[in-house]
Amino acid sequence: MTSSALGNFSADPGNGLFACELSFECTFCVAAKASACQARSPSPSFCPPEKRSAMSICDRPLPTPRPVPRRRLFGFEIDPLSMKQAVEQLRTWINEGSERCRFVVTPNVDHAVLLQEHAGLQGAYREADLVLADGHPLVWASRLLKQRLPERVPGSDLVPMLFESTKQQGPITAYLLGAAPGVAERAASNIQKLWPGVRVVGCYSPPIGFEKKPEEIEQILWRIADCQPDVLVVGLGAPKQECWVHTHREQIAAKVALCVGATIDFLANERRRAPRWMQRTGLEWLHRMLSEPKRLVKRYAKDAWVFPRLVLRQWLAPNAG
Ligand code: UDP
Repeated sequence: MTSSALGNFSADPGNGLFACELSFECTFCVAAKASACQARSPSPSFCPPEKRSAMSICDRPLPTPRPVPRRRLFGFEIDPLSMKQAVEQLRTWINEGSERCRFVVTPNVDHAVLLQEHAGLQGAYREADLVLADGHPLVWASRLLKQRLPERVPGSDLVPMLFESTKQQGPITAYLLGAAPGVAERAASNIQKLWPGVRVVGCYSPPIGFEKKPEEIEQILWRIADCQPDVLVVGLGAPKQECWVHTHREQIAAKVALCVGATIDFLANERRRAPRWMQRTGLEWLHRMLSEPKRLVKRYAKDAWVFPRLVLRQWLAPNAG
């Protein structure tokens, strides 16, 4: 038996389901029903069937159509939105609410390279609600390949811009998931000072290897459900963050999840972003590499070898996929 702020629940090893003792309707009912009605493999259900919501995912309105068609680049699709349009889209989703957590990924060159062979990341990208180009090279390549993206929309700028929107468009709540212990709390304190309209309702730094431990994942989903944030800021590094959010999107009790790498570190001043001139001239990667050479030199060397080939491949065969 495990206790949480939501009540007590216990695992039934016989059928892999969870039985809970909640006296009110469980937050995860809809997710559990969604799994059932889509005939997926059973996912945890957290309260007795008679207490479940009457509305299933099948009754929900269809998603709103995309205002602008996606651009196909290097085998995946990217939304051609400006920063302003992306923030507007997020605000719309936050204001209208949704039974399902929408999620946003922000590809850079490294993602484009990883996506050539990583099935989990490919799945996450296929189902992401917004795919926004994080890096300059993707925008430059999009122009060369006549699949024009208006500008880069880096996750580390998107989060502050969304928070900035609270000054005109009303408050939001946020949960910070990821970064080393204590970092998210420092980020939260900076956020509250800079953007009083953002209420950080929770922070959690999952232990190393959490993604392989079902009980740890359960705990994280409960923590988020306890706070019901508008926005879940996920900083677990790629491709872990995209795969984790994609796998658990039906159970994440937030309106929108943003997969944004080191953003929590930046908000905490734990790591420094590249100076503006480097960001503007497409040299942010160099700054990152010099600040973490051991981890990043090999990665960037591979990216520098593979990415130009991806561009050339599409330039030579624009309709090949
Ligand atoms: N991180 C984490 N848990 C993990 C792995 C990474 O919280 O299991 C955090 C790490 O502390 C850092 C961020 O994820 O805050 C990594 O972001 P970065 O964008 O540098 O990762 P990348 O996608 O470039 O590998």
